Amino acid sequence: MVKAIVGANWGDEGKGKITDMLGQEADIIVRFQGGSNAGHTIINKYGKFALHLLPSGVFYDHTTSIIGNGVALNIPYLFKEVQSIVDRGVPMPKILVSDRAQIMMPYHILFDQYEEERLGGKSFGSTKSGIAPFYSDKYAKIGFQVSELFEEEALREKVDRVCEMKNIILEHMYHKPLINPDELFNLLLDYKKVVEPYVCDVAAYLHQAMKEGKNILLEGQLGALKDPDFGIYPMVTSSSTLASYGAIGAGIPAYEIKNIIAVAKAYSSAVGAGEFVSEIFGDEADELRRRGGDGGEYGATTGRPRRMGWFDAVATRYGCRMQGATEVALTVLDVLGYLDELPVCVGYEIDGVVTKDFPTTVKLAKAKPVYEVLPGWKQEIRGITKYEDLPENCRKYIEFIEKELEVPITMVSNGPGRDEIIKR
Ligand code: GDP
Repeated sequence: MVKAIVGANWGDEGKGKITDMLGQEADIIVRFQGGSNAGHTIINKYGKFALHLLPSGVFYDHTTSIIGNGVALNIPYLFKEVQSIVDRGVPMPKILVSDRAQIMMPYHILFDQYEEERLGGKSFGSTKSGIAPFYSDKYAKIGFQVSELFEEEALREKVDRVCEMKNIILEHMYHKPLINPDELFNLLLDYKKVVEPYVCDVAAYLHQAMKEGKNILLEGQLGALKDPDFGIYPMVTSSSTLASYGAIGAGIPAYEIKNIIAVAKAYSSAVGAGEFVSEIFGDEADELRRRGGDGGEYGATTGRPRRMGWFDAVATRYGCRMQGATEVALTVLDVLGYLDELPVCVGYEIDGVVTKDFPTTVKLAKAKPVYEVLPGWKQEIRGITKYEDLPENCRKYIEFIEKELEVPITMVSNGPGRDEIIKR
């Protein structure tokens, strides 16, 4: 049984919490895309953690955590992250790394920084984790697969060939220090030593696990609106954030993913630049940002203040549809208890015409939000464990959103903790 947990919005929906919670019943948790560029915040009996590269199942000793082939594998980062949780009393997790995962190179991170510098004010708001240069190289076929570390002669040749090309760009475009191929080769040999005990033919491992009826969770990073094809291109990430890509980035048949949980936040937030139709500003935004998430809406990786907005039913319905959501987990609802009224964006007005369909970026730039305003519930809802015990206006808000999304909301999260969840 394979389940995917993915974002319906711009990321930061609380997927980490949902994965950590569902991890209780999972045997295997797989990261299938992205890298260390986004963070998941998890609060459990060991404390509060911000994970970037590790799957959110690493806190259980019964789960195997997998870095799939679709991930941008930053080897030193991965092992630093493992050490940081072990140092805080978490048992050493069982980790497997796909032999087909590609390696984040130090120059990918540098190129990411250099390019942001070059673009100046027109930058993409990259987290500078090397993600775009990494995936560019992967598809330009000059990336390095983990498996290549084990063929030293061929590796040496490839290092020289790639350095030659990178150094031309470093010298003439960015005017930055060149890469020394000997140093890079030696670094890769160090990487090999570190990663060797964990390397695995993950596709074969998962094939066997599925035969044995194991419970597998695919954990997505970011959300549908950051997908390179279906998101707000070009203000997107560089690997697909969609559940369908989970099949490719983990190495399983698409039809095995039976259950897709789209995580949606009860209001909107986004990091980085890009169109954001229901965005709010000023004091209204500051207050929501301050109260939002767990201790305020600030990026888990960068610490940047997140942009805030009202719930966008147009974007979220589209996000659920592109994810192929079979159910929705609605998160951080507890934060909204202070509001007298809750606007919900139910349509986009583009050139005088109202639509409920999420358009391409060019049209999106012209969209104005059409709101329906719902009454607030003016009450703390943390601690409530039964759906019927939620205030009536709160239930009405959930049910209104559910109707707009056209997907059942099966879980409502009313606090950051593992057990703060209402199942319907
Ligand atoms: P992810 O990238 O989708 O895993 O999301 P993040 O972890 O970056 O952001 C979600 C934030 O909201 C984190 O700080 C969580 O601890 C917090 N969070 C998750 N669910 C809830 C909830 O139901 N209520 C509150 N107040 N915070 C939540």
